[in-house]
Amino acid sequence: MKGRAPARETAGGAPAAVEDERGGGQDRGVAEASITLSDDVHAPTPAVRGEGQPLQDGEPVFEVRGLDFYYGAFKALRDVDLAIGRQRITALIGPSGCGKSTFLRCLNRMNDLIPGTRVDGYIGYHGQDLYGDSVDPIEVRRRIGMVFQKPNPFPKSIYDNVAFGPRVNGRKKDLDDLVERSLRQAALWDEVKDKLKQSAFSLSGGQQQRLCIARAVAVQPEVILMDEPCSALDPIATIRIEELMCELKEDYTIVIVTHNMQQAARVSDVTAFFTAEVDDNGSRTGVLVETDTTNAIFTSPKDQRTDDYITGRFG
Ligand code: ADP
Repeated sequence: MKGRAPARETAGGAPAAVEDERGGGQDRGVAEASITLSDDVHAPTPAVRGEGQPLQDGEPVFEVRGLDFYYGAFKALRDVDLAIGRQRITALIGPSGCGKSTFLRCLNRMNDLIPGTRVDGYIGYHGQDLYGDSVDPIEVRRRIGMVFQKPNPFPKSIYDNVAFGPRVNGRKKDLDDLVERSLRQAALWDEVKDKLKQSAFSLSGGQQQRLCIARAVAVQPEVILMDEPCSALDPIATIRIEELMCELKEDYTIVIVTHNMQQAARVSDVTAFFTAEVDDNGSRTGVLVETDTTNAIFTSPKDQRTDDYITGRFG
């Protein structure tokens, strides 16, 4: 089933800075009265596939249909259909420039911040149109947090980095508890508990990235988007983040862009393979080739292009 919504200009849709981690309510899923995103996002749901690890349990968190994305006149993505299941790690893989990061940023309306961009098609978030007129992009980004390629802590103390989002949201009570809980969730507490007032820049790269994860979870999102979160890290820090992702999956839905296929195979439950198609004018447009359980993608892909990519013949 395919539903196509009219094209929508995204530029200028939100005033928030890219790093903005604004908080919402104090419980996950609690929204401001003016926000129309549904709160009912944690209902238990039955599996839809009988054997092995299902692609998703029940209703997907995201349902993307017929998504096209434009930077000005340049069409970066064409006709993407993808459902993303709850409490899964979904990996987006594919050659450089095929639109993985662009697609990821569509999921929390981060592309709205880039002038001249345009979305065509439908992205449902728990059945609601994420780009609907009444949806507040800042609330979207609270529910759907993001961790970037390069650790980007604020020039503040470790404590203040984690407390930033909740404070922006007006939270004053129990901040110490929230900071500790977030740092524990990010597997960083034991390493920083005695130096919370030190600058975040005193931490190693891997610790900074875990701090950014703590900052993301401090505003209690439902989804965490990760854009090549380990590409600036050494192998040991990378493994630590991968272990952390597997722990976070218990509580969060995670979508990760990675060009490291071993990483996708190690951490993800579901893999979506993108590639770029070249038209007669030489313009490259990203398309989603196939999505399946990670095991199926890496052992028995259905599409020859996927097979060529994962076996290293292309890309
Ligand atoms: P990937 O993550 O797969 O490497 P990207 O999503 O970064 O791919 O890029 C997809 C295409 O969109 C590329 O051709 C890239 O040059 C283009 N692109 C990405 N960001 C921008 C931007 N801010 N403005 C214009 N074009 C962009």
